[in-house]
Amino acid sequence: MTTDGDFTYNGGRVEPGETQNIRYGISETYIGDPVRIPVTIINGEEPGPTVFLSAAAHGDELNGIEVVREVAHEWDLSGLAGTLVCLPILNVPGFLVQQRYLPIYDRDLNRSFPGKEGSTSAYRMAHQIYSNFISPCDFGMDFHTSTRGRTNMLHVRANMENEEVSRLARSFGSNVIIHGEGASGTLRGEATDDGIPTITVEMGEAHRFQRSLIDDALAGVESVLAEYGMLERAKVRWPGWVTTIDDNEKRWVRADAGGIVDMSHGTGDLVLEGEEICTISDPFKSESTKVESPFTGLLVGILENPVVYPGNPICHLAGLDEQTQQFLEEEQR
Ligand SMILES: [Zn+2]
Repeated sequence: MTTDGDFTYNGGRVEPGETQNIRYGISETYIGDPVRIPVTIINGEEPGPTVFLSAAAHGDELNGIEVVREVAHEWDLSGLAGTLVCLPILNVPGFLVQQRYLPIYDRDLNRSFPGKEGSTSAYRMAHQIYSNFISPCDFGMDFHTSTRGRTNMLHVRANMENEEVSRLARSFGSNVIIHGEGASGTLRGEATDDGIPTITVEMGEAHRFQRSLIDDALAGVESVLAEYGMLERAKVRWPGWVTTIDDNEKRWVRADAGGIVDMSHGTGDLVLEGEEICTISDPFKSESTKVESPFTGLLVGILENPVVYPGNPICHLAGLDEQTQQFLEEEQR
């Protein structure tokens, strides 16, 4: 499906060569005010694919908001072939109170897609978003960060068994792609099942704008638009190295002791089997436990809030193929 004409949604129409900024009502508050999400639709003069860029399905994950806003409002999109549907803040109620979930019964908007009419409030909101702005798209990118108190290196999550998703994921040009289907109810999983190849971009931590990550993600978006012939000036980027990690080959290393954590590494570091990842110490610094890496791998994510109960995650460690490991060893050591 390509756009060779108008983009339509319930109550509106955007013609080729036209850009619209919309506040679209998806629900109502306790006092009956509309809950409206910001949407920018840029319908290029030239025909091409229709693509969504969405962020803040988790209301406190901010980096992606800036990525989507800059594409929509700072990029020179003259000559765009196709349509960009920019959804910088999906979970407006969560964003307003700076929390992950919808503050209405603490529902996860990103487990509520594609939504359902006549169902719960979360499902109804998801339905409004999905039916109007996701369904008409050919593919899409959904931007996230790590959960509060943790951070992760920029990476793409995608179902690499799906050829179209794989093309999209590779064209984003990140070093790390984590393969997995995506949980039920996630925008990525449901849209992909629905024939709209979708990737998730994970970047950094909640509650922050992290400039270098935002720039990196913008380069990724530009690379995707180049891959699909949407922006003539853009080029597909090659990130230097790429590793695809199966969802099952990564794991959270968990604390076995409670205490205060001193990390020895940052995200993106290669750690060798048996190497110290962090120490966990008591308030008197009299007793400390060394946490060693259970296998050689890449630190995709780590905790930022340096306190743990036994069982809490310390870092997200991903195993690597030999070639990538060698490459990183030379690069980092
Ligand atoms: Zn998220």
